[in-house]
Amino acid sequence: MKNKADVVIVGGGIHGQATAFNLAQKGVKNVVICEHKYIGYGATGRCAAGVREQFGLPLTIQLAKASMDVTANFKELYGYDIEYTPGGYLWLLYDHRDLELWRRNIQIQNSLDVKSFLLRVEEIRERYPYVNVNGVLAATMNPRDGYVNPFKVLYAYTEMCRHAGVEINTYTTVTDIKTKGGKIISVLTDKGEIETNTVVNCAGGFARRVGKMVGLDLPVKPQRHEMIVTEPVELFFPCMVITGPWYAFQTKPHGSILMGISLPEEPLFDDVDSLQPQSTWHFLEKVLKVAVEIMPVLRNVAVIRQWAGWYEMTPDAQQILGGVPELPGYYMSCGYSGHGFQLGHIAGKLLAELIVDSETSIDISKCDYGRFVRGELMPEPGVIG
Ligand SMILES: Cc1cc2nc3c(=O)[nH]c(=O)nc-3n(C[C@H](O)[C@H](O)[C@H](O)COP(=O)(O)OP(=O)(O)OC[C@H]3O[C@@H](n4cnc5c(N)ncnc54)[C@H](O)[C@@H]3O)c2cc1C
Repeated sequence: MKNKADVVIVGGGIHGQATAFNLAQKGVKNVVICEHKYIGYGATGRCAAGVREQFGLPLTIQLAKASMDVTANFKELYGYDIEYTPGGYLWLLYDHRDLELWRRNIQIQNSLDVKSFLLRVEEIRERYPYVNVNGVLAATMNPRDGYVNPFKVLYAYTEMCRHAGVEINTYTTVTDIKTKGGKIISVLTDKGEIETNTVVNCAGGFARRVGKMVGLDLPVKPQRHEMIVTEPVELFFPCMVITGPWYAFQTKPHGSILMGISLPEEPLFDDVDSLQPQSTWHFLEKVLKVAVEIMPVLRNVAVIRQWAGWYEMTPDAQQILGGVPELPGYYMSCGYSGHGFQLGHIAGKLLAELIVDSETSIDISKCDYGRFVRGELMPEPGVIG
């Protein structure tokens, strides 16, 4: 492991890797990633890897669209197939307030060149006959939304980082960050010390702990979220089906179905001992109950596996992306609250711009940590869960 670096990145998930790669692309020579376990050990390796442009805040839509431009063209841009599978998110709306909200969201999305639209119940029935439309008022759809294979994304970034000269240290835990006179001087790890003036906190569910190392109390709290996967069945649904808390999609060409649901009873933790939470029978019952209501055809499909990961929740369910005036050289890309995978490409690019050029091609000043202190939260209305 190097003992001197221009930038040390804490965390080898999508955000750590995308930031490292973009820094190297911009000519930063000496970038080091320290990953507690293996690449993808955190939420990135446990997520649904859904990608979408259907959000509600103009800034989130802008970020999601810019990231989707990378997702959809990843092979042309970088030469790696990440199994981007568009098919749209079919977002079922049951409530008049939600319908009004999503009408507004679609207007904002369309004004930003996202091609989303509303489907009437008869259209849902006709296009997606396996969806139970009882109680449904309408649904949103954006054909460019879909999913990718998160492991292929991680593999691509690992390879691209290595080719670009980034040092990736797995099984290396950052234990502290040393400062002197308001400046970072080094990072302490269980494998030794690395001299540096710049650190990026990409520690996902452990971001708060890495904030405390420099005296910041980041409001990033881990919350358990689980998923299941079924046996493969004949391909029959092309899109992500969503009710809000519940979602399901079928992977192609394999045919297994992935599903999840957000459970409000899951607590937000101040800290967790391990980044590997247990999966539960409670979740299994809840997710399958909704599954057979929304798509009765799933009644006889067998579940083969289940796992859990942490969402990294903030009070407004939005990311902390940027630096802090209190400590020059300390940057964060964390707190993505359940939609962070898809924003990885653009967040890495913008953070690299900020670190190298001190300005960004999309204004991310509102994503700062200071918004929680100022009370200027920016709740995103298009959150799943
Ligand atoms: C079940 C589930 C489903 C999801 N579905 C989606 C989805 O469909 N679409 C979407 O966009 N997002 C989704 N998400 C959210 C998404 O997975 C996360 O927002 C995103 O992966 C966060 O990436 P990251 O790189 O910030 O963090 P992580 O992937 O969690 O990586 C952080 C890394 O930091 C390491 N680390 C922590 N502390 C230290 C330390 N002190 N020293 C060294 N290393 C350290 C950890 O080991 C970990 O590997 C989902 C999440 C879950 C749990």
